[in-house]
Amino acid sequence: MIAVQSVETDRRPNLFHFTRLQRPIVDRADGIYLWDKSGRRYIDGSSGAVNVNVGHGNRNVIDAMKRQLDRVSFAYIFQFENEQAIELARGLADRLPNGLDRIYFVSGGSEAIEACLKLARQWAVATGQDKRWKIIGRMPSYHGVTIGTLAVTGDDILTKTFDAIGRPMPLVPAPFVHRDHDNLSTEQRGIRYADMLEEKILEEGPESVLAFVVEPIGGAATAALVPPNSYFPRIREICDRYGILLIHDEVMTGIGRTGKFLGGDHWSCRPDIVALSKGLSSGYAPLGALAATQRIVGPVVETGGFLHGHTYGGNPVACAAGVAVLGEVDRLGLVENSAIMGELLRGEFEALTRRFPFIADVRGKGLFMGAEIYADPLAKEPLPQGLNANLRLIDLAFERGLIIYSRRVRGGPVSDNFMVCPPLIVTSDQIGEIIAVLGDSLQALASELDL
Ligand code: PLP
Repeated sequence: MIAVQSVETDRRPNLFHFTRLQRPIVDRADGIYLWDKSGRRYIDGSSGAVNVNVGHGNRNVIDAMKRQLDRVSFAYIFQFENEQAIELARGLADRLPNGLDRIYFVSGGSEAIEACLKLARQWAVATGQDKRWKIIGRMPSYHGVTIGTLAVTGDDILTKTFDAIGRPMPLVPAPFVHRDHDNLSTEQRGIRYADMLEEKILEEGPESVLAFVVEPIGGAATAALVPPNSYFPRIREICDRYGILLIHDEVMTGIGRTGKFLGGDHWSCRPDIVALSKGLSSGYAPLGALAATQRIVGPVVETGGFLHGHTYGGNPVACAAGVAVLGEVDRLGLVENSAIMGELLRGEFEALTRRFPFIADVRGKGLFMGAEIYADPLAKEPLPQGLNANLRLIDLAFERGLIIYSRRVRGGPVSDNFMVCPPLIVTSDQIGEIIAVLGDSLQALASELDL
């Protein structure tokens, strides 16, 4: 593994990270670009952690936060409501489908999922369904790093160490339909993968199953894995048949990322609870939320209220950022731009597969685009795991001034996938710029690994 840059490492001996490498120290950021202390420019082709949806340095968001800081920087949610939280909740309720109009604020994605799991469980208890506690997740998947979210995450590397103190939940396979060699059509495969949920429910005992948690379009673990159109309607049917709650993790896919306000909006899905974060504040403040229907929240409130709450839940400055971000999403037409630029990006990705035959399975929606690197794309044969080709591609791109997104996951169909997810303000010229550097990086990867 090659260190990207070892700038000023001696000046930060007290930080420790989960990253593999010392990274350059960031200096400033604007639009889709970041600069490090040495003046090097980077194209943010990953929107940070797929969260900086409105781009860096947005004046309206910054000014709204400053105004809020000047008025009230903090008021404890158990003592005061604040206007920013009220307004953001209303803004979300107006944009979310199917009566998902009861909003609860937290400070990030893991917290949002954790709150969803607890709300679901408390709903079961409040409605006399105490026996329901199992929450089924998918393999592979990523829902966060807290003990509760790890329990529903399908990633052997992340969960192995902590299973001893958590309670690992049942998992069903994510629909990697492009990997299957059978005579079924894509839509038939979608049904087959959805039916695996029913099989799991029956195996576990339907009376013990509480919920199914799923990303509408799989992100970190599966690189923009889009299910067939048949998948989610069948999932909803199955959940309804057994009285099981459907929880959508929209932490990465929400707030316009996939060319709709929510990723689930591509299929008119009707989740019972939705988790949001990332794009909600676009990185300007730590912020997350859950949205649920009155059917879920009502019994919980009536029986004494949600047994949950963080010091920073509904923080006025974070919520001011959220309100301003929603304003910018509307003002700049970012959901629409994501859809339009996403199609351009898909075309460019397809062109890359022709130039680099080791790349295949381009997928995604909006500015949430992924692909896989194979030893043999036709046979779907992955590269040897030890090569860590996707991590190497990240480094090669970074050295060339482009940030892309990829994680190494263990469990399920392991592959070297990568994603390009620039801020939703990206222009067509900037897509061209991204693809040019990505092409150079793939060329370098091909020479290095003899692909
Ligand atoms: N859920 C999904 C789908 C995510 O992609 C992430 C983070 O990448 C999380 C949850 C956890 O969010 P956070 O890192 O803010 O805790």
